[in-house]
Amino acid sequence: DVLSRSSPPERPKKARPQGQAQDPLSLEGLRESLRAGRIKPYFQPILSARTLQPVGAEVLARLSLPEGGILGAGAFIPLAEQSGLIMDLTRVLSERLIELEPQLKPLGLDFLSVNLSAANVEAVGAAAIVKRLVHAFAGSSRIMIELTETAVLPDIQQMRALTTQLRLGGASLAIDDFGIGYSSIRALAELPYDALKIDLSFVAEMFDSEKSANLIASMLHMAHSLNLQVVAEGVETEAQRDRLIEMGVDRLQGYLFGRPVPIEQFASQFVSS
Ligand code: C2E
Ligand code: CA
Ligand code: CA
Ligand code: CA
Repeated sequence: DVLSRSSPPERPKKARPQGQAQDPLSLEGLRESLRAGRIKPYFQPILSARTLQPVGAEVLARLSLPEGGILGAGAFIPLAEQSGLIMDLTRVLSERLIELEPQLKPLGLDFLSVNLSAANVEAVGAAAIVKRLVHAFAGSSRIMIELTETAVLPDIQQMRALTTQLRLGGASLAIDDFGIGYSSIRALAELPYDALKIDLSFVAEMFDSEKSANLIASMLHMAHSLNLQVVAEGVETEAQRDRLIEMGVDRLQGYLFGRPVPIEQFASQFVSS
């Protein structure tokens, strides 16, 4: 049982009435969801800016509620990070992904992007998960790890240990949410990234604020001078798409091209597009 290997901090158990479901957003509820297989990978296409064809996909976690309905990652990832459950979640999600390899392979994606929060992640453990993924997808797609730095782990030494381990595991690395929070220029100088994802807040504001547009241009210039691929996320309009292509972005991702969807839907959209 993958869930029994680590022991995140336990909250005192409250007695609960028979038959009443656990609050899915409590720590115990999240653990139960992991055990019950209710954490699922959704897929969002990432397109080449040159051909406007999908070349990859980002894997995004979703929690399906027992009574129906789906929760977005923002509702439960922060709790998983704070509680230390993020390693188990990452492991479970990776195993689901490996099960889907036969369905993903025929799509011929160059890469699959998997998110990893730097928070509460143990470098060697994360590398083991990534190694398994890389091995399972060796005949289909490259594994790209999207690393988000958070306040919990701003330490450059620890980030170096983590990124080095992931590289040794055979994954490519993207720095996620670049330009906000803790994803810093310092990190670009010191860590072995292959790609940079411009945070969607810059794309959202690119026509309202000249500063945002100028910052996108600067990030592009900087990233390309370091030989990094640049992905713009949160592309929702054709105007944004066209301007970003003109500016020289390499890859595009956003609701304009497709929302995160379950594997069946993702695969069928692919065939029809
Ligand atoms: P992120 O990695 O920056 O992922 C992009 C988020 O933007 C996703 O939200 C995605 O659904 C959303 N998005 C995509 N296109 C558009 C668009 O055109 N407009 C707008 N407004 N939003 C768009 P989601 O799936 O809710 O994920 C939120 C965050 O949760 C992610 O941000 C990521 O940091 C984290 N996350 C998601 N899945 C995982 C996971 O498996 N592991 C870890 N550690 N973190 C995850
Ligand atoms: Ca991401
Ligand atoms: Ca992002
Ligand atoms: Ca984010």
